[in-house]
Amino acid sequence: MTSNDARVTRLNQLPDRAGRYVLYWMQTSMRAQHNPALESALAYASERGLPCVVVFALTDRFPGANGRHYRFLLEGLAETQTTLAQRKVGFVVLHGAPEETVTAAASEAAVVITDASYLREPRRWRSEIAARVNTTLVQIEGDVVVPVGVASPKEEYSAATLRRKLQPLIAEFSELPLEQPYDSDGSPIDTTSVAPGHPHLEQLLAESPQRVLDELSVDRRIPASGEYRGGFSEAERRLSEFIDRRLAEYATRRNDPALSWVSNLSAYLHFGQISPLYIARRAQAALPPDHPGLESFLEELIVRRELAMNFTFYNPHYDSFECVPDWAKETLRVHSTDTRSELYTLRQLEQAETSDAYWNAAQRQMLRTGKMHGYMRMYWGKRLIEWHRRPEEAFETAVYLNDTYELDGRDPNGYAGIAWCFGKHDRGWPERPIFGKVRSMTAGGLKRKFDIEAYAERWR
Ligand SMILES: Cc1cc2nc3c(=O)[nH]c(=O)nc-3n(C[C@H](O)[C@H](O)[C@H](O)COP(=O)(O)OP(=O)(O)OC[C@H]3O[C@@H](n4cnc5c(N)ncnc54)[C@H](O)[C@@H]3O)c2cc1C
Repeated sequence: MTSNDARVTRLNQLPDRAGRYVLYWMQTSMRAQHNPALESALAYASERGLPCVVVFALTDRFPGANGRHYRFLLEGLAETQTTLAQRKVGFVVLHGAPEETVTAAASEAAVVITDASYLREPRRWRSEIAARVNTTLVQIEGDVVVPVGVASPKEEYSAATLRRKLQPLIAEFSELPLEQPYDSDGSPIDTTSVAPGHPHLEQLLAESPQRVLDELSVDRRIPASGEYRGGFSEAERRLSEFIDRRLAEYATRRNDPALSWVSNLSAYLHFGQISPLYIARRAQAALPPDHPGLESFLEELIVRRELAMNFTFYNPHYDSFECVPDWAKETLRVHSTDTRSELYTLRQLEQAETSDAYWNAAQRQMLRTGKMHGYMRMYWGKRLIEWHRRPEEAFETAVYLNDTYELDGRDPNGYAGIAWCFGKHDRGWPERPIFGKVRSMTAGGLKRKFDIEAYAERWR
């Protein structure tokens, strides 16, 4: 089996058939570059002498998504549309529930190809579509280095246990997909039969992402990020800047919130606008394999990120307190009767009105830009445990705030990061009030390690 075969999963048992086109339902990998699902669809189309049509199903009801997320998504999608047009690949934006719109768009497809997700709702879409279409539905995993099921058949205990399994597989899965020559000279495809109402949204998208957003009924209370613009070009610009200026010192400086010595690529990864394998290959080309900066970056980008995918794929409770290990549940519950010096309402937390200037600064950074510094996310999550009576409520608040305001929210990394604050993927520590045996973090620690006053001042 080649590494590319291992990325492929058949989602139903139907044979492919003589159809009018090959359909790629783009859901996770929203890009035209380094996308194995797209390249497979194009290769298959060329082999069969059929046109390839890419569809994206835009739903107003993606759980937790608001105007901030949609704006970033649409900025990226506009660029994807342009790049696909340059490659002469048909692109259709469907509007409505994917299980309805994709099924309808697949009615005359020879085969349907899609990418992979590790979260509940998009996985439910895939199973429903697999049951409804009358041809083969194939999934190709292009947003992880090592396919999740190949890396491990079960939920892993910690980064150490997954690392041992991933390390020997990484080289085998380091081949970027080749760009397929694609010639759609054959009979031009009438995309109105793929999607009635087409090409309304594509025209609006070509005018501006905001025009499409205006058509959607989504929660608009959270403004777009002034700091991050979506799309592959912007992701690649940030990647190059990171590699040139910060990668070499990443190991020693990445944790410092005042320096912000990180890649800032998480939202681009979340929306599939850049491939993690491409990022890894670019970083590997810049430094020798045993360079501490490179090793530390690949640990986050591959081991930590793919541990999060392993977690949400195998643990159905990933977004609630139920997901944490028994020892952590027990110790936090035992200590839920410990005295709390402060308890805040959701509104006070949301508006960064606590007595902790560092926490408020982190919350404001997230409110304003859509991205809190990674080290502060840990501190931020830990403090929420102290400010709620019950750990279940603290977990719920963390998920709500993270998913609402972070551009990279609603991601396996977010659920794994929050769960980590409650003991997941970690070990027990000496017992303390409120936290019990779960690791705590203090303002004193921030002061000792960093110029945290400079960070607080920056986000005052
Ligand atoms: C409470 C909490 C909430 C979090 N919420 C999210 C979230 O909603 N979305 C999200 O993508 N990440 C989340 N993280 C993980 C991590 O903080 C972010 O991925 C990171 O800060 C993103 O910034 P960057 O792209 O500049 O990271 P860099 O340091 O440049 O790292 C490069 C990439 O590696 C991956 N990575 C880095 N750190 C981690 C980590 N600890 N776990 C898993 N992957 C990692 C990310 O994909 C990141 O883009 C959360 C962590 C915690 C503790």
